[in-house]
Amino acid sequence: MIFDEYSIKSQVRPVPNFPKPGVTFRDITPLYQSPRAMRMIADSLIQRYVDSPITHIGAIDARGFLLGAVIAYELNKPLVLLRKPGKLPADALRQSYQSEYGESALEIHRDALQAGDQVLLLDDLIATGGTFLAAARLVKQLGADVYEAAAIIDLPDLGGSRLMQDADIPTFTLCAFA
Ligand code: AMP
Repeated sequence: MIFDEYSIKSQVRPVPNFPKPGVTFRDITPLYQSPRAMRMIADSLIQRYVDSPITHIGAIDARGFLLGAVIAYELNKPLVLLRKPGKLPADALRQSYQSEYGESALEIHRDALQAGDQVLLLDDLIATGGTFLAAARLVKQLGADVYEAAAIIDLPDLGGSRLMQDADIPTFTLCAFA
């Protein structure tokens, strides 16, 4: 299915002052509720990575999980979860970071990745970049590489995608709200 950026952007719902005053939350639940939008998003990402050397999908808690599961299934790759603290049951590494809303952290199981793995990180949106940068640090601490960090939406005014490029993390987004 051909990617229609206008259609995707028009189905992202802006919610002012959520989860706190001054933040415009870009609600992607209408995209996940639309089989056509989901297919457009998934097809675009599958086309981009089907012939790439990625070995693993690294999906970020929680909206990245939904995208990650679809892409991992279609590309027939292992799905690795980067979770909010306290959710992973086995031995895990933790990385704290500053997000658009405050202090946060991600964890990954120590045995989820190893040296030489090429990880595609997936989330719904890049804001300040803190989440993807923390995820990338965890991947690297396990000796693996980030092949690319991909999201549906970039919010370039918040500077995250620029910070990620400065940190040498290749970044890909399907659309942007400036
Ligand atoms: P950041 O770490 O600042 O790049 O924030 C990205 C993460 O927080 C993603 O997992 C998003 O789901 C969520 N997020 C941050 N800001 C927003 C926003 N304005 N609208 C929707 N989700 C957001």
